[in-house]
This record gives sequence, structure tokens and C-alpha cells, in this order.
Amino acid sequence: MIYPCFAPAIAESPNHEICMEALRTTEAYQAEFIKLRHDVKIYFDRSSASRNYAIGAESVGANNIVIHIPSNVQPIATSLASLLAHELFHAKHRCVNNAFGSALDKILEEGLAVYHQYNLLSWSHEEPDAYISGIIAASDEQGAAFYRELYPHLNDHLNSQLDHDLFYDRSHGTPLGYIVGFYLADRAIKANPQFLAQAGSMSFDEWKKTIVLPVPRFTSATMPRHRAF
Ligand SMILES: [Zn+2]
Repeated sequence: MIYPCFAPAIAESPNHEICMEALRTTEAYQAEFIKLRHDVKIYFDRSSASRNYAIGAESVGANNIVIHIPSNVQPIATSLASLLAHELFHAKHRCVNNAFGSALDKILEEGLAVYHQYNLLSWSHEEPDAYISGIIAASDEQGAAFYRELYPHLNDHLNSQLDHDLFYDRSHGTPLGYIVGFYLADRAIKANPQFLAQAGSMSFDEWKKTIVLPVPRFTSATMPRHRAF
């Protein structure tokens, strides 16, 4: 089933059969979301040809989710569905909290959004795509070290420079905020599996009371280097 508020954008979209299939796959997420608000719109944008040849998504304001599918890329329904799961989690959580205070707020929200993205692929019996596998592998291999590096900055106010460094700087591969976010989300969900279902309707303060953040042990060899966060 497709909720009526999503239908108009789909009808106007190219590849609407694939978009419809993606929406059917995210039905459970939409149902959760619809309980909270009815005025979200999903747009499929095919106008950008060179967005790194990758499909991307963003939430614009509280009401709009835009899925960018470069005109030179043929979309795959499960990839679209996994992006929708990510953005619907953001949209749902924005009904409870619509502004990030600290770096940790956004790190956790992105980590949980990526976890939902990963989970949707698992439910659909799909292998994680390259983007998700990259985050999982990096989080397994380097998550603790990156977390230790960020730890002194977790409560810093999320200004635009810090936001850029954590979530948009791709000079070293996947931005650090996603890797550390997935690392923390994965640990929080393993410690308390119900947190996955509850997280979308909890505030940032409730997250911080629910999740036990690991306290990294610093030795002289692991003292955070002075990266510009
Ligand atoms: Zn996100």
C-alpha cells in the first residue's frame, strides 16, 4: 500500500514504477511516520546529472524529502527504498526535535538513520550496497579510534564548520560523523534492541539518558591529535 500523501509526487516522477516499488518496500516506515504527521512530500529529482554518479537524498525543511537520481543513473528500487528509510527516520525524529544542539545530536541521528537504511536492506534480503558496506567496515575497523578522536568534541555546539567537517568532508572517504554515528548506534541497539523502534520518537536528551556512551581510555599513544573539528 502507498499512503495517499506520497502518491502525487510519484505519479509525476520518471521511473515511477521503480519509485512505487521503493515506496511499497518502506511501508512500515511510512506507517510509523504517518502516525505523527501527514504533510510530508517526497520528490524524485532527476535534474542533476553529476552528483558523483550516485543517488542521494536530503530532507529539506520539515516537510520535504528529495531523492536525487542523476539523469545518467538507472535507479534500483531497493537502493531508493533504503534511502527513503534513512530520510523518513530523520523526518520522523524532526517531529520531536527539529534542531541539533551538539555534534553528538547529529552524530547519533545520522548513525540511527544509517542503521535504518542498513536494516531495510536486511529485511529485503539484500546485500548492503557499497555505501552502507563502507560505513559498516569503517565502523568495525576504525570506529573506536575515530570515536576516541571525536570524544572531546561530542558536546561542542554544531556550528557550520563542525557540521561540514563531520558530515560533508569526503577528502578521506566517508565523512567521519557517519562512521562514528553507526558505531554508536550499533552498540546502543545491541545493548538495548528495543531502542531501534523507540529512537524516532525520543528527544536528544532522552537518547543521551538511554544510551551508555563508551568512555574511551586515552594513553599517550592515543591522545587525540589536533584535527580541526
Ligand atoms: Zn542523514
